[in-house]
Amino acid sequence: MSRALISISDARAAILRASVQLPSEPVPVEDAVDRVLARDVIAAADVPPFGNSAMDGFAVGADASSAPLRIVGEARAGAPAAVALGPGEAIRISTGAPLPEGTAAVVPVERTAERDGAVEIAGDVVPGQHLRAAGEDLRAGATVLPAGSRLTAGALAVAVGAGAGSVEVARRPRVAVLCTGDELRAPGAPLGPGEIHNSNGPMLAALARAAGAEVVAVERVADERAATERAFAAALDGADVVIASGGVSVGPHDHVKPALTALGVEERFWRVALQPGKPTWFGTRGEQLVLGLPGNPVSSFVTFLLFARPALLARQGAARPLPPRGRAALAEAPPRREREQALRVRLDEADGLLTATPTGAQGSHITGSLAAADALLFVPAGSAPQAGDRCEIERI
Ligand code: AMP
Ligand code: MG
Repeated sequence: MSRALISISDARAAILRASVQLPSEPVPVEDAVDRVLARDVIAAADVPPFGNSAMDGFAVGADASSAPLRIVGEARAGAPAAVALGPGEAIRISTGAPLPEGTAAVVPVERTAERDGAVEIAGDVVPGQHLRAAGEDLRAGATVLPAGSRLTAGALAVAVGAGAGSVEVARRPRVAVLCTGDELRAPGAPLGPGEIHNSNGPMLAALARAAGAEVVAVERVADERAATERAFAAALDGADVVIASGGVSVGPHDHVKPALTALGVEERFWRVALQPGKPTWFGTRGEQLVLGLPGNPVSSFVTFLLFARPALLARQGAARPLPPRGRAALAEAPPRREREQALRVRLDEADGLLTATPTGAQGSHITGSLAAADALLFVPAGSAPQAGDRCEIERI
């Protein structure tokens, strides 16, 4: 068993190494937002499939001049013109309507005057103007979305445009959330002496869903060895990733680690050089992952973002399971600490500069810092940055 504190980046590397991609399934494209593509989306045909008008106006031929042109038909979106353009003719056209045969340009309606079934054009007609060519957006056969990308609303539009009715995406990781602690009561329940509400349960479930997981269980576990082992055995029976909170420290009532060892879950690391979140534990059983997060809600929140979220994204085959890092200037000097700190900060922008203000007291038991946090800001171990110094951030 390793006892030295591991760095955040080494801990993440260990998690990503152990995160095997789940099998894929077809999902209707309208239900696929936030899912991770397991296969490239290829354009089935050119997009747009036909040359069309970029403006409302008149389709005209190469001979168009300032002389009035006879209006011989209309092309609307979804309803092509029945006739081709002849000399001295114009066809009324809407944005997105197929170009009539013989079209050299579209003249916007604002530049035309209509009288007695004919149209007059102000100014020159520039051939090719206001036309959209077939395939200008996407070419048939081109990869329009690569495997490993997480589908945004915009990506869904691209997939649909490319002709996809369904997309092949990774199955959602099945997540069981186990909250250890004799003191925990359900949200809203009356509290007896020494009891607190289980805030980690709903929080971790929500974070897991936001990372693409299907949450199959949220359970409370008593601080008792046999109960802990039973609860983890049940969770491991079907979950791809088990996320536990509490019970991973060194107290006499911390039963998570021995219970997991007894269940054949192999420890990969325990304890990270991080504040908050030092007692974080990670183990594997085959392809199953178990993350033991510290019980303090702030620690649970931070370590979920740092470790559990990348694990869930990696199990879905995400090409970029780690969030991109940016930089922001500290609004105030943070306290100096021996371990690397992950501060919860609000971000404000002024004159192109991002400023990070801690969202309140940063103690791991002070939950007030969570609600307004836009990002985690990293203060390197032992360093003492001053107000105005720039530090690395990860947006939440
Ligand atoms: P532990 O990691 O089990 O030693 O718990 C550390 C602190 O977090 C203790 O004050 C616990 O009461 C608190 N805590 C543990 N689990 C939860 C939870 N699910 N919701 C809210 N607070 C918790
Ligand atoms: Mg506890």
